[in-house]
Amino acid sequence: MSYRDKKKQKEWYRKHRLKCKINGICISCCKNKSTINKTKCNSCRKQESKNGKIRRIRMKKEGLCLNCCKLEVVKRNLCSLCLLKTKAREAGFNINQALTKFNEQNRRCAYSDILLTEETASPDHIIPICKGGNNNIDNLAWVSWEINQMKRHLGKEIFISLCKRVSENGPTNS
Ligand SMILES: [Zn+2]
Ligand SMILES: [Zn+2]
Repeated sequence: MSYRDKKKQKEWYRKHRLKCKINGICISCCKNKSTINKTKCNSCRKQESKNGKIRRIRMKKEGLCLNCCKLEVVKRNLCSLCLLKTKAREAGFNINQALTKFNEQNRRCAYSDILLTEETASPDHIIPICKGGNNNIDNLAWVSWEINQMKRHLGKEIFISLCKRVSENGPTNS
């Protein structure tokens, strides 16, 4: 399809949506009334969610990333990049800024310098949310998953000082 055709189609769709919205009919089947506050009727919506489920099951079977359809799933049915993006999003950070940060850290844990993979990396709130920290990018440090488990709700300074105490004063194997 040429660029002009695509543009025409888009324009048609925009008008179609508007017309349906005004008349309160489903933009998908153009027959039934659309559900309140939605653009589609109940039966079209049901069908779509069923199709979505079937699609996801098929993608899982074929080993495709559920997010981008790439063929290199590493975990949670996602490819490595989508896995990292998902972790950043779930922690509440801006995805693009978080990815930039990951590269700025040269894929190394901010506290232990352990080399990270998309699978082992974990986003840490330097000042924990429960201690008044926020989701700004300055408050993000990519760290190894184990380190994040250890740090949990501790602030950065106290965590590091505790690690030092363990390393200097803890029992040794000798
Ligand atoms: Zn419909
Ligand atoms: Zn992906």
